Amino acid sequence: VAAKPTNFLRQIIENHLTEGTHAGRHWGGGPGDAAHHAAGPVDAAKIRTRFPPEPNGYLHVGHAKSICLNFGLARDYNGICHLRFDDTNPEKEEQEYVESIKDAVRWLGFDWQDAQGHSHLYYASNYFDFMHRAAVYLIEQGLAYVDEQSAEDMRANRGDFTTPGKDSPYRNRSVAENLQRFADMKNGLLADGAAVLRAKIDMAAPNINLRDPAIYRIRRATHHTTGDAWCIYPMYTFAHPIEDALEHITHSICTLEFEDQRPFYDWLLDHLRAGGLIATPQPRQYEFSRLNLTYVVTSKRKLKHLVDSGTVSGWDDPRMPTIVGLRRRGYTPAAIRDFCERIGVTKDYAWIDYSLLELCLREDLEHQAHRAMVVLDPLALELTNWAEVFGSSAHTEACQLPALPHGKDDADVPQRHFGLGRHVWIEREDFEETPPKGYKRLFPGNKVRLKGGYVIECTGCEKDADGKVTKVLATVVPDTKSGTPGADSVKVKAAITWVAQHDAVPAEVRLYDRLFTDAQPDAGGKDYLALLNPSSLKVVTAYVEPSLASAQPDDKFQFERFGYFVADRQEHRADRPVFNKITGLKDSWGK
Ligand code: ATP
Ligand code: MG
Ligand code: MG
Repeated sequence: VAAKPTNFLRQIIENHLTEGTHAGRHWGGGPGDAAHHAAGPVDAAKIRTRFPPEPNGYLHVGHAKSICLNFGLARDYNGICHLRFDDTNPEKEEQEYVESIKDAVRWLGFDWQDAQGHSHLYYASNYFDFMHRAAVYLIEQGLAYVDEQSAEDMRANRGDFTTPGKDSPYRNRSVAENLQRFADMKNGLLADGAAVLRAKIDMAAPNINLRDPAIYRIRRATHHTTGDAWCIYPMYTFAHPIEDALEHITHSICTLEFEDQRPFYDWLLDHLRAGGLIATPQPRQYEFSRLNLTYVVTSKRKLKHLVDSGTVSGWDDPRMPTIVGLRRRGYTPAAIRDFCERIGVTKDYAWIDYSLLELCLREDLEHQAHRAMVVLDPLALELTNWAEVFGSSAHTEACQLPALPHGKDDADVPQRHFGLGRHVWIEREDFEETPPKGYKRLFPGNKVRLKGGYVIECTGCEKDADGKVTKVLATVVPDTKSGTPGADSVKVKAAITWVAQHDAVPAEVRLYDRLFTDAQPDAGGKDYLALLNPSSLKVVTAYVEPSLASAQPDDKFQFERFGYFVADRQEHRADRPVFNKITGLKDSWGK
């Protein structure tokens, strides 16, 4: 535990732990206790947080912030964090999403199993019986009523910021009539949308969320866990506080959009606690600012649209800010956790620059990603004096370079081995027939080093009928091999990357760029679909050094001079290598 809390939530939790104010009589013996068993044995001294996704899509980088926050607090304060599927919306939820969310949480390095081995994985739908009972209780107390106004009337009568709402003609029904109509709703006697159960609070409340919010609606839809058992479903604002209470959550942390819901959260739990339906102390809600990350959209609805419209190849397209997309792009869990740590937790509205995420990735990979040479835009180079120098055109020279930059004489540094021969691939941009001012690479008469190989001197080039250079010609300078005593005998101003044609491995390299051209593609009512970057993906056939032939899916590398790349976890195969660009070596974002 840090000496000084690094954010306001940590400060709150440390105060609670010191004062013991979060802890209490969890086994209160009320009628809610049957449901309490869901949360496993309760150690009243521990804090409990939860990450409560709705299983209606894949998680994105914003959810990563919430995961790192909630699971991180539990980890650092010896508490427990629940993974809870908030599955109260049957039409949009699917088992596929449940599985992907579990994978994402585990991949990020967190676990819903506590130190004693209890699994804290919950479904809101497990509490449907209890929620129904809580609704009946509110009706019995005169705190809820069945409203049968049309949807339009209900909307009109809610009022707005300047006008108080108007009471529904159904607001003063008797308890008995409300119980009957609610039973009719539950028993399928009313059509979808024909009635809702509303909390009876205050139609003139300045906070519109307190103007008799709907708490149950009729929806004939098959639910992914409860099937067709129910045709009424609780509203999120009613369900969520109850889920927190039944699971003995101490700190219910959510994004600031829910700040206006907090009075209802407290209203509901105050009443349920007074009625003995939930234990004490009741959970409290705390809000923080959501992550806004430049150059991406983080709304599941918009991300789903990109997938459904075929704009991207799927939820795990490497351009997507989803966890599966970031993973496939080559981002590491450590880099994402570090990013979430660095952006901090506040209540301020802010945009975080995408370059911070890239910086975290570079810092994580710098000392672990093996180096490799690749040629992304290949141009042939022939060393015309090869046979004279080495006795045969077919001769090859064994070369090596360290795989990691630890200083060359460190015996533990792994080495990469590759050959040099008469025929080589170089980058097209490394040759200029007529060099621009200051150009230090290959042009007729100039010498450069083939990195890790020999010094060569350019003698000319061959061209096709259109004047396009098809081959660069050069001679090898004998006795200048890297790592030999003669290496420094000839001074050169540049070392270029290359791969020999005899041992180069052809590979598909996917050069990804940002998906949007605008830093805030969906802010202020902008049409994010009109701001897609048309060149967010460029695919090239490259030649890579032979050490990459044994790359496994998900292995990460630094391709010298180009940046960090990953063997694609879906499509990379030994006989058909595929590498994705993660990010460049330096911050080029916004340039
Ligand atoms: P979206 O708006 O993208 O559909 P959501 O908020 O509806 O996401 P949920 O599944 O309900 O998605 O979110 C689970 C948790 O993740 C919530 O507690 C929510 O506050 C948090 N969360 C979602 N987006 C962000 C974000 N951008 N930054 C931080 N936390 C987020
Ligand atoms: Mg939601
Ligand atoms: Mg949302």
